[in-house]
Amino acid sequence: MYNNNISENFGSMVFNEAVMRERLPKDIYKSLKKSIAEGTPLELDVANVVASVMKDWAIEKGATHFTHWFQPMTGITAEKHDSFLAPDGTGRAITEFSGKSLVKGEPDASSFPSGGLRSTFEARGYTAWDPTSYAFIKDNTLYIPTAFCSYSGEALDKKTPLLRSMHALNEQALRILRLFGLNDVKRVVAMAGPEQEYFLIDMNMYLKRPDLMHCGRTLFGARPPKGQELEDHYFRPIKQRVLKFMRELDEELWKLGVYAKTEHNEVAPSQHEIAPIYAEANVATDQNQLTMELMKTIGAKHGLACLLHEKPFAGINGSGKHVNWSLATDTGINLLDPGDTPFENALFLLFLVAVIKAVDDYQDLLRVSVASAGNDHRLGANEAPPAIVSIFLGDELTGILNAIENDALYECKGKALMEIGAPVLPRFPKDSTDRNRTSPFAFTGNKFELRMLGSAFSIAGPLIVLNTIVAESLRQFADELENSSDFKANLNKLIKRVIREHKRIIFNGNGYDGSWVKEAEARGLSNLKTTPDALPAFVSPKSIELFTRHRVFTEHEIRSRYEILLENYSKTINIEALTMIDMVNKMVIPAVFDYQNELAELAIRKKSISPELSTLPEEKLMERLSKLSEYLTEKLERLTEQTIAVKEIKDNLEMAKAYREKVCAAMSELRMIVDELELIVSSKHWRIPSYSEILNSV
Ligand code: ADP
Ligand code: MG
Repeated sequence: MYNNNISENFGSMVFNEAVMRERLPKDIYKSLKKSIAEGTPLELDVANVVASVMKDWAIEKGATHFTHWFQPMTGITAEKHDSFLAPDGTGRAITEFSGKSLVKGEPDASSFPSGGLRSTFEARGYTAWDPTSYAFIKDNTLYIPTAFCSYSGEALDKKTPLLRSMHALNEQALRILRLFGLNDVKRVVAMAGPEQEYFLIDMNMYLKRPDLMHCGRTLFGARPPKGQELEDHYFRPIKQRVLKFMRELDEELWKLGVYAKTEHNEVAPSQHEIAPIYAEANVATDQNQLTMELMKTIGAKHGLACLLHEKPFAGINGSGKHVNWSLATDTGINLLDPGDTPFENALFLLFLVAVIKAVDDYQDLLRVSVASAGNDHRLGANEAPPAIVSIFLGDELTGILNAIENDALYECKGKALMEIGAPVLPRFPKDSTDRNRTSPFAFTGNKFELRMLGSAFSIAGPLIVLNTIVAESLRQFADELENSSDFKANLNKLIKRVIREHKRIIFNGNGYDGSWVKEAEARGLSNLKTTPDALPAFVSPKSIELFTRHRVFTEHEIRSRYEILLENYSKTINIEALTMIDMVNKMVIPAVFDYQNELAELAIRKKSISPELSTLPEEKLMERLSKLSEYLTEKLERLTEQTIAVKEIKDNLEMAKAYREKVCAAMSELRMIVDELELIVSSKHWRIPSYSEILNSV
């Protein structure tokens, strides 16, 4: 089953560059490449040929169906399957797949969240092929990656604005490159590589926990006697069953052209990580969605449930996702690589300060892009970066920026830096851009790493924000520099000024330290603790101005997405609260009663044997159980009331706040009682698998 011949299998199920070049007629291949490079629509006659070649290729590979594959606002992917067969009018069937079916589809979209973008009478949206992302075959189906829009052209998905943001970034970056005389560069592309954490647990445990099934996380669970205190799970040898899962996952991913690179045990027990080789941002987004989906389905084949929630277990490290991000030119330059020559150094510094300025100017939008009910359990909880956005540059690079700002000499291993672009920047070894895991956004040698995402996130949202805010910095820089007579002098002035104005966002210290919160406040950085605190920044005039200027979102799209995000938050907590109530009624209370009954019977029987026998232990325990049951009922009632009361609120933001303040509070009070009960109720009666059982189940 496991095939070591990676190169033979790699990408074998992808209609990629090599397949296109080999199979498409030359002129068709050229037109397709041209519209990919320029982002122009495909001519129908070209599409017809591509579709027919694609169909033959897919059928050779065993495909019987095709589907447009898209990424609605649910954060996961959706698909609508059609068969290649069409009646030929004589009672037989022929295989059919036209250019029209390739480039455009019409899924019934009424059940996808649209935040009011699609009025009910116009329920249909359409999907349009994104030719920059390759089609592939999975489960005997040809998958066509598509964007998903309403008939009025408004984006209903995560891919459309991502492509728009990449376009905006390309446009502004090219303006800068022209100023540097790099006229041969035709395209600048945002590259992304997501590192994905996840838990694997035994499927039987999963199926016994309605909270895991419905909410993706445990709503109860006393801390196990042995958690991750000993830190002995990191890079521990991988267990056989998990290894088999990982191998199959690798193999399937390789066939789909995703080169999954590292897989090892993470900090928490049963936790693992997978990282692919980076790709163009939209391709990386597709690939990460595919990876998450395959992890679930392949896991199930091995009797494993893959948990992608950011905080499946309280008191145990949650799962995050790191998105590595850089800018590449079609001529092979990484614009975030410091390089070796004065020219490369200057270019690098300009892009570096563009990112610094962008992150400082739009901290709140980055925070919005990682906000969710699930991630609220992680950010700032001493396992993930704080909710405060800052940039880690490392001491060396920070020292260089300081020197530049102050016209000072920078001493580094005998080399001095006097003026930007004059002598060569010292090469900072990758290790000196240290591994500060507490930083939300870190420079790691030739890329940035955004570490605030929750594991379940689509990487599209954060990438849309990053691309757009950096495009905005570059736009401002280009406006300023294009009109200057002395480019070099003005470049130096600009870099100095931006460092001075935005250095407050740079922080190399320990983000978990309490003093950072105070210091950040003194620096004027924002600290948006929870999702309802963060989301309003998305609809601020500054945000609307940014996104509409770069044509990434229309104002209408922003407002509808804002409503969807608020609704998602409230719905998530509502489902959690209802699940909790249900589990307490059906699983916790019966267990507590059964156990009390057993104790009472024991006490009676003891007395019937001899009145002299002490029943003190039974009585003490029953007293405790009685007391806790009383609290339990009280807290259960309280939570039930809150879930009803919150429904009365009309405004979505107010409702989200009430969920956070009232419902979440009632949930944690109820949980405390249940967790205490778990510690004293006999495991014979306790119907919910414990943390120990779950975390040691594989
Ligand atoms: P770590 O963060 O553990 O040091 P790596 O340095 O191996 O991990 O990289 C993590 C991820 O970053 C991988 O997905 C990798 O492909 C991606 N990556 C590496 N270089 C770049 C780059 N220039 N742009 C975007 N992503 C990159
Ligand atoms: Mg990393």
